[in-house]
Order: sequence, then C-alpha cells, then structure tokens
Amino acid sequence: MKSYDLVVIGSGPGGYVAAIRAAQLGMKTALVEKNETLGGTCLNVGCIPSKALLDSSEHYHQAQHQFAEHGIKVDALKLDFSQMIARKQEVVDQTVAGIDFLMDKNGIDVLKGAGSILDASTVRVAKSGGKKSGGTVDVKAGKILIATGSVVADLPFAKPDGKRIITSTEALSLKSLPKKLVVIGGGVIGLELGSVYARLGTEVHVIEYQDAILPTMDRTLGKELGRSLKKLGMKLHLGHAVKSVKGAARNVTVLADDKKGVEQTFKADYCLVAVGRKAYTGGLGLGAVGITCDDRGRIEVNADLQTSVPTIYAIGDVVAGAMLAHKAEEEGVYAVEHMAGQKPQIDHNLIPGVVYTWPEVAAVGRSEEELKAAGVEYRVGSFPFKASGRARASMDTDGLIKVLVDATTDEILGVHMVGARAADMIHEAVVAMTYRATAEDISRMCHAHPTFSEAIKEAALAATGNRALHV
Ligand code: FAD
Ligand code: NAD
Repeated sequence: MKSYDLVVIGSGPGGYVAAIRAAQLGMKTALVEKNETLGGTCLNVGCIPSKALLDSSEHYHQAQHQFAEHGIKVDALKLDFSQMIARKQEVVDQTVAGIDFLMDKNGIDVLKGAGSILDASTVRVAKSGGKKSGGTVDVKAGKILIATGSVVADLPFAKPDGKRIITSTEALSLKSLPKKLVVIGGGVIGLELGSVYARLGTEVHVIEYQDAILPTMDRTLGKELGRSLKKLGMKLHLGHAVKSVKGAARNVTVLADDKKGVEQTFKADYCLVAVGRKAYTGGLGLGAVGITCDDRGRIEVNADLQTSVPTIYAIGDVVAGAMLAHKAEEEGVYAVEHMAGQKPQIDHNLIPGVVYTWPEVAAVGRSEEELKAAGVEYRVGSFPFKASGRARASMDTDGLIKVLVDATTDEILGVHMVGARAADMIHEAVVAMTYRATAEDISRMCHAHPTFSEAIKEAALAATGNRALHV
C-alpha cells in the first residue's frame, strides 16, 4: 500500500492550496478528487466562471449605456451570448489546467476518485477517470485533510431540476439568453448572477425573504447597492416568502406571499434557486472514525482545525465560517503548517467579503449591527463616491465608503464599501486592521490623487470628527 505524510480529500481552493503548502514543507502528499477536473466549486462552477461572465456582461452593458456619453459611438452593437459562455469556459479550462500543472510541479500525486476514510490513517479511493475507472485503492496517510467543500442548498418546494428550476451551475452555462429570470435569494449568488443577466437585457426579479438584500452584511451596503441594481432594471421583491415553484416545459411559475401576505405570481423562463450552500460530507464515512458534525452538517473542528480525531483536519466550506475561497485557502495553509509543528495564525474577523456586482461591494471586520448588538461604543465616518473626482471622471459615482471606529481608542473596527473597484480597495482596510490602525493613522497617510482609494482616507477623516475635506 502506498504511504503518504498527508492525504488531502477535495481539490477546491482549500484542498489544492493545502497540498502545495504541504509539498513546500517537504511532506509526501496525495490529493484525492472525485470530479474529472481539479479546482473544486471555485474554479469549475463558482468564483472563476461567475467573474468571467460578470466582466463580459459589464463590458456589454457599458458599451450599450455609457460609451456614448464618453464620446464613443458603437453602431449595431450585438450580443453573442454563446461566445460569452464559450469564453467563460475557456477561462475555466485554462485555470483548471493550471492546477494540474501546479500539482505536477510540486510532486503531488493526484488520485482521481471518491475518497473515504477507513480509519485514522487509511483513505480508500473509489477510482474514477477514463479507462482506469472502477475498483478501489487504499493509501496510508500520516495525516488526513478533509476539504470536501459544499453543495447547493435547496428549498423543499423548489428542488432544482436542471431544466427550468436551476442552480448557479446551470445559470453559468445557459444555451440562450432568457427573457425573464426569477432569482430566489438576494444574497451573493443571486445578485451577481442576477446582474449578469440584467446587464444583458433579461428581466430579472429577485425574491428575498428578508427585508434587505445582502442581509448578513452591514445594512448600509444592501441599501446602497439596491439603488444601483434598480437603475440597472433589476426588480427587488423584499420580505417575500416563496411558497411554491413549479417548472413546466417552457417556463416556471413561482408563488410568493408579499410583506402584507398577498400572494404574488412570477412567471419566467427560469427560476434560479440561490438560498445558500451546505457542507458536503457524502460518502466520507465520518461516523466510522468518530468525526462529529454540528446541526448544520458541518464538520466540527477545534481552533487548530483538527476534528475529533486529532490527525484528521478539516477546512473550508465543510467547516463553520464564511463560505469563501480565500477563507478555505487560509485554513488549508494553517492546517498544514500546524501539522508540521508550526504556529500559524488566522484572524477570521479579518477575512474580507466581496460581492462582484457593479458597483462592487466589499467589507471587512464588524458591521454596525454587530457593534450595536455587542454594546460597543463606536463612531461612523462615511464618504460618498459622488464627491470623488476620480469617480466622476470614470462615471462611477454610485456608492460610498463607511468606516467604523472604536469611540474611545479610534481603532478601526469595520470598513464597508460599495463602489467601483471596492474588491481591490478593501485590502487597504485589511492591512490597516491587521496592524490595528486607527482612523487617525489612515487619515494621515498620503493617498494618490485622483484615485478611488482617496475615499477611504476621506471616510477615515470623517470618522475622526467630521474632518472629511471634499464634502
Ligand atoms: P470546494 O471548492 O467546494 O471543493 C471541494 C472539492 O472536493 C470538490 O472538487 C469536490 O468534488 C471534492 N470532493 C467532495 N467530496 C469528495 C470525496 N469524498 N472524494 C474526493 N473529492 C471530493 N468564493 C469567493 O471567495 N469568491 C467568489 O467570487 C466566489 N464566487 C462563487 C460563485 C458561485 C456561483 C459559487 C457557487 C461559489 C462562489 N464562491 C466564491 C464560494 C467558493 O467557491 C467556495 O467558498 C470555495 O470553493 C470553497 O472551497 P473548498 O476548497 O472548501 O471546497
Ligand atoms: P447567501 O447566503 O449569500 O444568500 C442567500 C440568500 O437567500 C439570503 O439573503 C437569504 O436571506 C435568502 N433566502 C434564504 N431562504 C430564502 C427563501 N426561502 N426565500 C427567499 N430568500 C431566501 O447564499 P448564496 O448567494 O446562495 O451563496 C452561497 C455561498 O457562496 C455564500 O456563502 C457565499 O459566501 C458564497 N459565494 C461567494 C461569492 C463571493 O465571494 N463573491 C459569490 C458567490 C457565492
């Protein structure tokens, strides 16, 4: 039987990054993956394809609605939807091939097949992959890392059928542009993929159970983004309880009760169910080795990401916390360094969250609602992009930056932004908060002019006592 220092089960951003780090640390490493391609949800049907379509659709939308004002005339602009989907797939294929290269380069054995845990040091792989599929192979493992990720959560009355009732996976590969799309869930997937289709001309209705979109983020963000999405033509139905979804041959009918309890009917070409994701542990055989899960099916781990069996670790979407690729990566590196006897560190409060709509949404640290609930005394400073020269120059004046600081110490506790390039700007806040900076620190750092980042400095100035200069 082949023997490894580490066997990683699942090749998403958590698993493959952990495998690379393990190889760097000199561990003989195997990576087990049941899908044909490596890269997990993120590379195949998540982060990468959705961003490819978001970028393509934004170009189209700008060409249609903004170019003329910039003085660029485009005659007979035409959408080639199948080319857009084909380009997205090329991006995925290239990215996934990059992971094969990285595994090879780092001397990591890739075992194609579904992994299960026989005992604390044995992994069985039910082989898949071309001619060699079928049969099992057992390997010895000094340590095991579970990185099996998550799958789509559904509603009892809205089971995706892959035809008219779809998940994000099908929404990333539609054959033709829908005229009308109903999205259940005004969270990250609903708004990102809803934006893609709204920009391309689809009539998009988002039905959200809570009274706000992005309800788990600082409430200012959903309010601000909602204004931009409405301008884009998206219809946001908040406080609506969906009660039935029926797919037919050519369309789908969704029934929901509005805030007043009045039944509303939505007919569309497709209904995208985007109400969250759930941890995936199918077929791992956790019970046999005594690994426990919480009431939401997530593997229980300690602060060092060890399961109830100390030589078996778990990371990423399959454990508690934000379901984000970069959180999975950080945890993968942490787990492997801990196995190697190092003392790694992650601050889960400083994992940024980004929504890739336009304007983008980005946040790090605590929301105003969380600070209120915890009884923390805080001050708020905010700055609107309409007061930014750079934003005016690029016609991206929607949005704002909000900085929350401790009322006594001035330490930055949370930064929340809606605006162009927020996804990249948020890292200034991550760096600042990692070094426990104050708003005064940020407000005394020179920011290049004219940039979107100046708004962070202005918001910090506002938080230190109404010293913003350009409002
Ligand atoms: P996954 O990426 O889910 O990978 C798990 C892997 O394990 C899979 O390949 C699976 O086949 C494999 N596996 C499972 N069981 C077994 C088994 N028994 N044996 C062998 N292999 C197994 N996050 C972001 O940070 N930014 C984004 O922009 C973003 N966009 C997203 C867009 C969409 C549409 C979706 C659906 C998700 C998005 N996410 C995004 C979330 C992100 O994809 C996940 O948080 C991330 O992929 C989790 O990584 P992971 O390694 O924990 O698991
Ligand atoms: P989500 O948790 O972001 O949003 C789900 C939304 O559905 C919530 O607003 C919730 O209130 C709503 N909802 C739940 N039940 C409902 C019902 N019965 N009727 C109407 N609305 C209902 O989940 P998601 O958008 O499916 O995304 C899944 C995961 O993938 C998230 O954890 C997210 O972090 C990750 N993801 C991240 C990115 C990114 O980082 N940019 C992009 C896509 C997905």
